[in-house]
Amino acid sequence: MTRKSKDAAFPDPTERETQLAKLILGLRSQGVTDPAVLAAIERTPRDLFTPELFKDRSWEDSALPIACGQTISQPYIVGLMTQALTLEPRARVLEIGAGSGYQTAVLARLSRLVYTIERYRTLLRAAEERLKSLHLTNVITKFGDGFLGWPEQAPFDRIIVTAAAPDEPRILLEQLKPSGVLVAPIGKGPVQQLRRYAGDAKGGFTIEVLCDVRFVPLLEGVAREL
Ligand code: SAH
Repeated sequence: MTRKSKDAAFPDPTERETQLAKLILGLRSQGVTDPAVLAAIERTPRDLFTPELFKDRSWEDSALPIACGQTISQPYIVGLMTQALTLEPRARVLEIGAGSGYQTAVLARLSRLVYTIERYRTLLRAAEERLKSLHLTNVITKFGDGFLGWPEQAPFDRIIVTAAAPDEPRILLEQLKPSGVLVAPIGKGPVQQLRRYAGDAKGGFTIEVLCDVRFVPLLEGVAREL
C-alpha cells in the first residue's frame, strides 16, 4: 500500500505513474497500438479533466460523470476513435462534443488545428481553461449546435463525434474533404455502433463498423443553463 494524503488523488508520483502505465498497457492489449496515439494519451493528464469526486478514478479505463449530466469518455474509446481517425500532423480536425476537453487535448497533440463545438457553455469554458493550462493553443472552440457542423471552416480532413448521432450525420459528412475520415457513434438506443466513414474515389464513403459503444446522445440546439 502507498501513502495517501487528504487533498490529492495521487500524492505519490510513483502511484500515479504506475496507474498510467497500467492504463497504457491495457489500451495496447485491447488493440490501441499506434505509438503516436498512445504517447498523446500518456502525455495528457486525465486527472485534470475529471471532477473532484472522481479524481482517484482518473486512470481507470472507464467513462466518468462530469458536470451537466455528461461524461468524460473511456480512455480505450478515446484511443480507439483517435487511432481510427488516422491523423496526420497537418490535419484540420472538427470535434463535436468537447465535454471535458480530454479527447480534444489528445487530438490537439496529433493534429495541426482542432475545431471543437459544445452545446453547454459551462463545459466549454472549463475545457478551454484546461487546454490553456496544458499550453494546447491549436484548439478553436465554439459554443453551438454540433449537428450543424462548422460550415465556415469546412472542409475538414477529419471529423470526430463524441456523442451518439441518431442517424448517419449527413451535414457533417458534407463538411468532410473527399479523402477525409469521420468517426462517430451512430444509433438511437443506449447502445450504438461506432462507425468509421472514409471518403472514396467515387465521392462516396466506405463504412466500417468498429464496435458497440455507449455514448450520451447528440442533442439538437444549445443547452439552456441557469
Ligand atoms: N469527448 C468528451 C465527451 C463528452 S460527452 C470527453 O471525453 O469529455 C459528449 C458531449 O457532447 C457532451 O458534453 C454534450 O454536451 C455534447 N453534445 C451533445 N450534443 C451536442 C451538439 N449537438 N453539439 C455540441 N455538443 C453536443
